[in-house]
Amino acid sequence: MRRTKVIATVGPASIDAAILGALVDAGADVLRINCSHISTEELSARIKHIRQVRPFVAIMIDIQGPKLRYAGMPITLREGTEVSFTFAQLGMARLNPGANSGLAVGQRVLLHDGRLETVITSLHGDAPDGVITLRVQRGGDLLNNKGVNLPDTEVSGSVLSDKDRADLEVAKRDGVDFVAVSFVQRASDVEEVRGILGPTAHVIAKIERPQALERIDDICRVSDGVMAARGDLGVELPFQIVPAAQHKIARTALRNGVISICATEMLESMTASSRATRAEVADVTGAVRDGFDAVMLSGETAVGVNPVRAVEVMAAICVAAERDVTLPLIFADANPEAAAVTAAACSLARRIGADSLLSMTYTGHSARLMSSCRPGTPILAATPSEGVARKLRMAWGVFPMVSQRDPDVEVSISAGLAEARGHGHVKRGNKVVVCASRLSTRSDADTIWLHVEP
Ligand code: PGA
Ligand code: MN
Repeated sequence: MRRTKVIATVGPASIDAAILGALVDAGADVLRINCSHISTEELSARIKHIRQVRPFVAIMIDIQGPKLRYAGMPITLREGTEVSFTFAQLGMARLNPGANSGLAVGQRVLLHDGRLETVITSLHGDAPDGVITLRVQRGGDLLNNKGVNLPDTEVSGSVLSDKDRADLEVAKRDGVDFVAVSFVQRASDVEEVRGILGPTAHVIAKIERPQALERIDDICRVSDGVMAARGDLGVELPFQIVPAAQHKIARTALRNGVISICATEMLESMTASSRATRAEVADVTGAVRDGFDAVMLSGETAVGVNPVRAVEVMAAICVAAERDVTLPLIFADANPEAAAVTAAACSLARRIGADSLLSMTYTGHSARLMSSCRPGTPILAATPSEGVARKLRMAWGVFPMVSQRDPDVEVSISAGLAEARGHGHVKRGNKVVVCASRLSTRSDADTIWLHVEP
């Protein structure tokens, strides 16, 4: 059984019902919708479409946040010259100059997704029509709609645009499982989103700014998960530090017991080809060794030539990579009390060579604790809630099942075992370490049983 989860982005190449179904059957645990490319109405239609085709797959929407894009005529910038733009042309219509925006003379402005580098030499007037003058350090062609990045600027104000707020309302109403938030800078950005969403969806902070990487611990403490968003991260920071940054993101998430996702260009060449390069195979393997919960496909499944093949390749690489990794016990060591019973269940399972762990979980919390211990034994999670089961599809090593919950914990365990048997996860002679709460259905796991399947 594969432990690392696969996220596939749905786009024009995969929105067709037959392909969507095939993506899930090929191993996609979570489907992602990138809100940057669609209207709020299209978002709602897409969520309903996916729910209809595969009701049990998890859905993650990715909201655009303050991504800046150049809006203007194509222009060639020459090194050493100065050039002026309005705030609006640089996608900063909402920003004000000076202390308000965080912009200041001397900061870098990267254009065309990082290909061009400039430095601010003067700022005049207010957004949207005020003027920003830049000295070109690295020149080239600047095209309309290409990304603008401000690596040195701590941008003030809300992380959310009006479109993001509308998309969040849809997420809440249509019941998506995860919301990924772009260009988070600080913990309060995540709290703002959670304030709007309430408890419905889990919040994933995309780490794609240097300011977020510096505060990764604080951000993990308030998020349900973090994403190493390597595309923009590799623009805002020198690209050679991305591997170290992603390792830090995965390990910090694991220490805090939150979900981690590795994203962008993982099988990039498969956007146009049916084969992965050896370097891409090594990249996915590296993410598995870093200990990420999930690896993500973007353009490969959204606009690629063979989305289903990309998922198959991703899943196969994960399975092979998992064979020779043992992830460190950093969660259990960092959280000895929170993880006490689940960590004990995991080490018992290892010592007796159990075939599986069974977590009886109401909110998903204890299954996630178990996942954070990164046991070598597969985790079966039985929950009465379909929403919880869908969210657990993102958690490393967890195979969620929906099963009846009874006030008598032994009855619940029997139902969980029956469900596991039905899925072929428990067979004759199997040893199953069961972890549940005997004191109250809603409290953390407090008891361990050993079940041997007759
Ligand atoms: P994006 O985020 O694809 O929405 O830009 C991912 C990344 O930057 O890597
Ligand atoms: Mn990004």
